[in-house]
Amino acid sequence: MITHIVGNRPQFIKLAPLYHELERNGYEQNIIHSGQHYDENMSDVFFEELGIPAPAVNLLAGGGSHAQMTARTMVGLEKELSDQKPDLVVLYGDTNTTLAGAVTAAKLCIPIAHVEAGPRVHDKTNPEECNRIVTDHLSDLLFSPDTVSLQNLEREGLGAKACMTGDIMYDTYLSIAERPTQSQETQSEDIIVMTWHRQENTADRGRMESILDLVGKLESKVICPLHPRTRKCLENFGLLERAKRISNLEMIDPVGYTEMVRLMNSARLILTDSGGVSKESSYAGAKCLFMLELDVWEDLVRDHWIHKFNPENAASVEEALFFAKKAQRVALADRPKYYGDGHAAKKMVQELRNRNLI
Ligand code: UDP
Repeated sequence: MITHIVGNRPQFIKLAPLYHELERNGYEQNIIHSGQHYDENMSDVFFEELGIPAPAVNLLAGGGSHAQMTARTMVGLEKELSDQKPDLVVLYGDTNTTLAGAVTAAKLCIPIAHVEAGPRVHDKTNPEECNRIVTDHLSDLLFSPDTVSLQNLEREGLGAKACMTGDIMYDTYLSIAERPTQSQETQSEDIIVMTWHRQENTADRGRMESILDLVGKLESKVICPLHPRTRKCLENFGLLERAKRISNLEMIDPVGYTEMVRLMNSARLILTDSGGVSKESSYAGAKCLFMLELDVWEDLVRDHWIHKFNPENAASVEEALFFAKKAQRVALADRPKYYGDGHAAKKMVQELRNRNLI
């Protein structure tokens, strides 16, 4: 039995291709959902659209502080994994769910495979950085999305259990983007797609105001599927009405992945603080303004595909606006290709077999 442990939106997107590939190869699997994302449009829609079966168990461990959520997830997982005794646990990305899964499975001596191993922002004030480090060190097999991540793992002495598979989100992206209904890549209007939810950009009122100021200065329509955390923070800081008055900003509810791919594929620019979306921008052909000065996707930053900026620094904002003004859609042939060939799931299953983990 292979048990996948997931809890939030990007993890459902990463789970789909590996689940299907293991299924094609006849492996018995189940899914444990930590309950971190529970809204219909943050969770259920992804299972439906991506054809993943409903989780066998939902731990309902979402909410509260990092420690509370991690602890509740660990307690729930300890019971489930002790009962189920899986042969392998698969973890995804860098969330508290992943951290809880790594610590719990390791203590129960269950082998662990980590999907999206190795990215580092080199800053422990970023809440996910600790989760990445601990999970990579406790896992038995590490799947890296790019060579930079693989090199990070080698530097930390983890090279022997690491392999480069490419980004599994690219598998999912292609499975949607290549559907006939999606294939016409026409840019019908001048739009910028925005996502905004990191703790660093939502915990402080002044920071949120700076981001709203910047959006108001962009010379395009900005479509923002608003993350529930961001909506709540805007409300709590009394900024939601002000955001609604920004004439070029259209805030919509979070969208499913099919709609998200359609939006990204028609945008001329993506404004985000999401690690996943900033990488996907290179698949979709829209350059990316990244609202944090963290070490994300180094190859894309070096190529000036991703431009990082500080929304609270006037000079940095000016540069960001200049980058936004120039950004145009990039043809398929000219997009950067650092994240594999869209067959990451196949490589993962092969590697799991080679190492006798399944
Ligand atoms: N996404 C989506 N609908 C939305 C916003 C994002 O399907 O309304 C997708 C996005 O394309 C990416 C993933 O969700 O694949 C990123 O999720 P999020 O930004 O929550 O996580 P992060 O990448 O920051 O870990």
